[in-house]
Order: sequence, then structure tokens, then C-alpha cells
Amino acid sequence: MIRRTKIVATLGPATDDPAKLEQLLLAGVNMVRLNFSHGDADSHRLRARQVREISKRLGRSVAVLGDLQGPKIRIAKFKEGKVTLVPGAEFALDADLAVDQGDVNQVSIAYKALPADSNPGDVLLIDDGRLELVVDRVEGNRIITRVRIGGEISNNKGINRQGGGLSAPALTNKDKADIVLAAELDIDYLAVSFPRNADDIQQARDLLAAAGGHACLMAKIERAEAVADDETLDSIIRASDAVMVARGDLGVEIGDAQLIGKQKHIIARARKLNRVVVTATQMMESMIHNSLPTRAEVFDVANAVLDGTDAVMLSAETATGDDPCGVVKAMSRICIGAQTQRSMTKSGHRMDLTFSSVEETVAMAAMYSANHLNGVAAIVCLTETGGTPLLMSRISSGLPIYAMTASHRIQRRVALFRGVEPVHFVNEQLAEGELEQRGLQVLRDRGALKAGDLVIMTRGNKIGKDGGTNILQIMSA
Ligand code: PGA
Ligand code: MN
Repeated sequence: MIRRTKIVATLGPATDDPAKLEQLLLAGVNMVRLNFSHGDADSHRLRARQVREISKRLGRSVAVLGDLQGPKIRIAKFKEGKVTLVPGAEFALDADLAVDQGDVNQVSIAYKALPADSNPGDVLLIDDGRLELVVDRVEGNRIITRVRIGGEISNNKGINRQGGGLSAPALTNKDKADIVLAAELDIDYLAVSFPRNADDIQQARDLLAAAGGHACLMAKIERAEAVADDETLDSIIRASDAVMVARGDLGVEIGDAQLIGKQKHIIARARKLNRVVVTATQMMESMIHNSLPTRAEVFDVANAVLDGTDAVMLSAETATGDDPCGVVKAMSRICIGAQTQRSMTKSGHRMDLTFSSVEETVAMAAMYSANHLNGVAAIVCLTETGGTPLLMSRISSGLPIYAMTASHRIQRRVALFRGVEPVHFVNEQLAEGELEQRGLQVLRDRGALKAGDLVIMTRGNKIGKDGGTNILQIMSA
């Protein structure tokens, strides 16, 4: 059975061996993530090149995601590498302290505006909320806090403020340099970390275009402000091509109890607004070291599938885990188990909407026909931009959507869409009639269709200005 939900795997030291990377891609990874928070430009160049080479050799379309670090606020370093904070103790974050002079009383912070942004009573969360500091007072560039939840704290751990509201803009100077790198690597998706609003996404889009990049923009939803009201969330989604439910930072900012509701809401809004959505962080966390997921992880991945996510993401599980390939296999198995649930294959089909374009009308008609006509084996979509398969994949269905295009870039882009299988197909110079038959032949040759299977095909007749999709055919393979 074709797995409809896509898998994103973060690359790291555990996947650098080319043989391991090949195993990882063969296990079913649809998109790899280059995490620009770690490693230098050359390490990302090498990884991107390896992925391109191996996936080409394997004949698989694997998208590459570049994930900008963003204004993640971090503590600096300790003289001893780490300290243990005890509840009730005073501990200061001091923007004027030298970066490597931290001790049990104080540590430096890279983000110099934090003292000005802080007020007595604020709760600062260190290391994804493992430690909690309550701001007591601010003296110049020094924030004096009291430890509420203590524990071990080591170099460069992240800081979040509960409730959000830190003023840092989304794109740092490092991010701007990494956008140029992203264009050089011709990556397929560019993730913007900590966007506050649609302008942050637009700014990244403009910089990418200026650098000559072609990537789709992905907004990581991970600030309390981004989900504070529906207008803000919707405007961020509309400004993006894809979004990520970035549960790590989002959970710290809004509290873990709010997370499940927000996940469902973000996924539903993204699908409704015809955007792609990835669910991320700690999905298979225990498999960093264990060979089996916990029941809770099995249910977490399955529930994200039931929520309608396009893709589920692995972070440290693959980047630094003991068995990256094993995690992908386990995740794949869980996705396939979840997708057979009836709620996943039935659709409400936007019955109450009117459509704004011919393409959308044909895409919706195709999905309605495919889901309602008995015996349809597949939806076949001849596409140049990937726009029609995107619209189709926003509708629940149990049927595969074969997106056939000559463009490798579009093949990689649609690799992230739920239920969409990219297929290489050069259709130029083919006469009508021949075109459709050749398309079906390609699918029969790869074993995707058997002779006589009923299929729904969409394509453009190229008479329109941009050759957009305007034809729906029901055919026998
Ligand atoms: P990160 O983003 O892994 O880059 O922090 C994902 C998240 O916050 O969940
Ligand atoms: Mn994050």
C-alpha cells in the first residue's frame, strides 16, 4: 500500500555516511531537513549534494528543506560547561557578561535586547521548558531571576518566554546569509523560524527571490503571537506555501495543555487555505536510543495523520539517533496503519463553496468523481506547476494521486503533498490522445496501474494562456 503521509527526516552526524543516507532514503524519506541551527555552510553543501546524488541514482524524488535558525534566544557558555541550578536560588542572565564566563550565579545571553524586553514576574523557560526562571528585577543589562524549577543547565540552551511576546524580528543576519546559501543549493522548501506575522514570511520570500532561489516558503508556527488570534494565523498561512506545527517551541510558549487544540486548528486551517502542513518535534523521541516507539508515540504519529497532516517530521531521531533508518520504518508503518481509517478516506468535498478558478473546479470535480465512482484505481494529474495536485491533495481520499511532470523541481515539491506520488513524464510534442496513452503507459510500466484499471485523468489542453488544467477524463488504463 502506498503511504499517503510523507516523512521528513533531519540530517545530521548519524546520517552522514553515504551508505546510511541511502538506507534512510530507501526506508521512505520524502524530504530531508538541513537544520541551519547546526553545522556550517560546507556541511550543508555536502549533505545537499549527497541527497541529490543518491536520490537521482535511486530514481526517487526527495525534497530538501532548509530550516533557518531564526532568533532563537540562547544562553551563552559556562566556565565548566554546565551547572546545576537549585530551586529558590537567584540566577542572573547578563548581557554584559563575557560569553564563556557563566557559573552557578549568572550566565551571558546572546540576545542583547532581552533585559529591555523583560519584566518582573515573567517566566523564562530554559531548554524547552526543563528549567523555569521567574524574573525578579532587571538592573540595566542584567536580568535577576529566581529559580522555580531547577536542574542541570549546559552551554547554549534555548530560552523562551511563557506567553511569547519577545520583540526579536524573525530574520537574523545569519538567516539572511543562509537564504543566499539556500538559493545556491536550490533547495525545495525554506522554513522561516519564529515568524510573528505575514511580513516576516514576505521578507524571506523577497530575499530568496533576490538571491535567485525557487523554494516554497514554510512558516514554522512556534510563537504564542502566531496563534493568538485567527487573523494572525490565517495571514501567516496565506503568506506561506507550507506551514510547520513546530511543537517544540510552540509548546513551551503556550503551555503543553494548549498544544493538541492548536495542532488540530493549524492543520485544519492550512488544508482549508490550500497550504501544505508538516507536524514536527518529539514524534518518535524515545527512538533516539530505543528500537521501538512507545505506545504514546505510536498514537501521536497516528493522530497527526488523522488530523490531516501532509507530513510528519523527525529531528534528533534521525540526525543524531542510534538507528535513523529504523525510526523511518517504524514511522512509515504507523502512518500506513492510520491512513486506512474511514475518516481518512471520506471527504466533505467543499460542497458549500464556489470555486474561483477553472483549475480548482477541475481538481475538485476529479476528487469528487474519484471518491464516488466505484472501481477507480487512481487519479492521474498531468501538471506543470504542481498546483492541481496540491488542490486535489487537500481533499481526503484513499486513492493515489500521480502527479506527472517533466520538471524535477516540481516532482520534489509535490513529494511533500499528502497522497501525491511524483512521476517523471516528458509530455512535450505529444498529440492529444497519444499524450494520455503515453501517461498511462508510464504508470503501467512502473506497476502503479494494471491494464483495464479505471482512472481519472486531468490535464490542460494548452489552448488557454498558461495551459492550465481544464480537462477531466475518465479512462481505462
Ligand atoms: P526546531 O523547530 O527544531 O528548529 O526548534 C521545531 C520546533 O520548534 O518544534
Ligand atoms: Mn523551533
